[in-house]
This record gives sequence, structure tokens and C-alpha cells, in this order.
Amino acid sequence: MSPKREVRERLLDLISKAEAANCGTTPEAVVDEAIHEALLNQPVLHTCLFPGCIRQHDARASLAGEPASRPSWSSAGWRKVTRGPGHGDICPDHAPVVTKHLPNRLKLPNGRWGITCACEWITPPQRHHPVLRALWEQHLLEVTGALPAAPPVTDSEHRIPLAEHTDATLTELYDRLWNAEDAYQEYRDVARACMVAYTIAVPALLGAKTALEALRTRITLDSRDWAHDKLDALLYAVIIGWNCENTDPDHQHNPIDCPSDQGLWDIARKHDIPTDQTIQAGNHRWWIANAIKAAQQIEEQAAKQQEVN
Ligand SMILES: [Zn+2]
Ligand SMILES: [Zn+2]
Ligand SMILES: [Zn+2]
Repeated sequence: MSPKREVRERLLDLISKAEAANCGTTPEAVVDEAIHEALLNQPVLHTCLFPGCIRQHDARASLAGEPASRPSWSSAGWRKVTRGPGHGDICPDHAPVVTKHLPNRLKLPNGRWGITCACEWITPPQRHHPVLRALWEQHLLEVTGALPAAPPVTDSEHRIPLAEHTDATLTELYDRLWNAEDAYQEYRDVARACMVAYTIAVPALLGAKTALEALRTRITLDSRDWAHDKLDALLYAVIIGWNCENTDPDHQHNPIDCPSDQGLWDIARKHDIPTDQTIQAGNHRWWIANAIKAAQQIEEQAAKQQEVN
């Protein structure tokens, strides 16, 4: 007989059959219920994903909206990372640093994997993707100062003297060379693809901006009341916009020199334009304004580049 069984028997003996019957139950039923409840309410402890941190919280209690069975298992302030190679739970102490270094897993050409960190740190391409998690953990330890940063192999001060090279140190160097050659090829392919997309997209965007701005000028100079007719009002909503588009942080909407953020809704009400069409017109206006802004940024960058050259 297992010890567990013995305790159960002892418990059954301690409960009076008569009293159990008075409560409409049996000692067996009560003990089984107690075991069931204890099993169901077992804490489900999740440990902080920060390497070396042993803080835990009770995910079951948190899900059930109950207080944790121990204060140290409270879920208050815990965060969750749900994607990438670093998914898991983060304790309140480590939430700020982990949030600054959330990793994104990259699928690279030739069956390789990499990470880009929110701080712009990247891994060299890897062949076995579970390695990424360990590399990211090492990065976390380096940025928090728990681990000194590795000196670069190419640094002359840290070079291994020729006589001290071994099979292992040479293999490491050849691995790095292999990685570098591979990365060079990959990044060149990526750069080429980006360049092709850029040379197609930029003239198209700049052309659309020129056409839209000409149309805008044409409409603003027209003496017609663009609010009078429904189709005119919709065209105006998309090409120029009925709402105030002043993004100056000091600007406050006012009834004197700006149409406020209700202009589009006022026009929609006047012409009985349905809500979904009004929202759509607002979205289309935003896309056009945003495309023109992006085109302007490209032009400004190009102008700066020319100044440098
Ligand atoms: Zn932690
Ligand atoms: Zn980082
Ligand atoms: Zn305004």
C-alpha cells in the first residue's frame, strides 16, 4: 500500500460516518472532493525569463482573478512576451530592460536564422534557430552589465599569438570567416532587392504627389462651394480634407481660423453620408496626406545628400 493511500485511510477514519450522513454525504465523497480541489487549485508557477532570475508568479491564480496563494507569487506588474525567440513571462524588476530589448526572429535566405533586437543589436546568421534564444539571453546579460561584452576577435590587443593557435581557435576563426562570407552574400541580395523596390517606388510616389498637389491647388482656387454638392464634398474630403490638419503641438482647434476635427462629420451629417463612408473618406484622406508626407521626406533626404556630395 502506498503512503498516499494510508493517509487517505487515516483521514476517512477521522470523519464520523454519522456526521457525514447528517450533511448528506459520505467520508469518501468529502475526501475525494478535497483531493480534487487541491489538485485543481495547485499554483501554476511561471518563472521570469531573464537569465538567472528566480522570481515566479502564479499564472493560475492570475487567470482566475484570485489572489496568489503566497504574496511572493503575485502577478502584479508581470509582463508577457508572446512572440519571437524570447517569449515567456517577465517579472516587474526585469520588465523595463526586457521591453527595451525585445527580439524579433528573422528568417534569412539559405535556411539561416537571425535576431534583430529593439536596440538594433543583431546576431550573426545561425543555422539552428534555438541558439537564438541563448544569444539573446547573453545580450541581455551584457546590456545589464552582468556579463562583460566580448572583445572583437579582430581587435589587435585580443588577437591570439600565432604560436598559441590550436585546432579549436582556428576552427572558430574559419567559422567566423564562413559566416562573414555568407552574411555578405545575404546582405548584398537584400540590399539589391531593396534598391530595386526603392527605384520603382520613389518616382511613382513623387509623381503621385505632384499630381495630387496640382489637383489640390486647382480645387482650392476654384470659387465653387465644395460643401454644397455631395460628390464635391467627398472629393474635397479626400483631396484636401474637411478637418484641421495642423500638427503644431501649440495649435488648439478654434472656431475662427481652423475647421476643427469635426469638419468631416458636419459635412457627412449635412449630406446624409453613412458612417462607414465617412470613416472611409477619413482613412483615404489620411493615406493621401501620409503618402505626400513620405514623398516630402524622401525629397528632403535627397536634397541633404546632394549638399553632402
Ligand atoms: Zn526577473
Ligand atoms: Zn538589445
Ligand atoms: Zn485646428
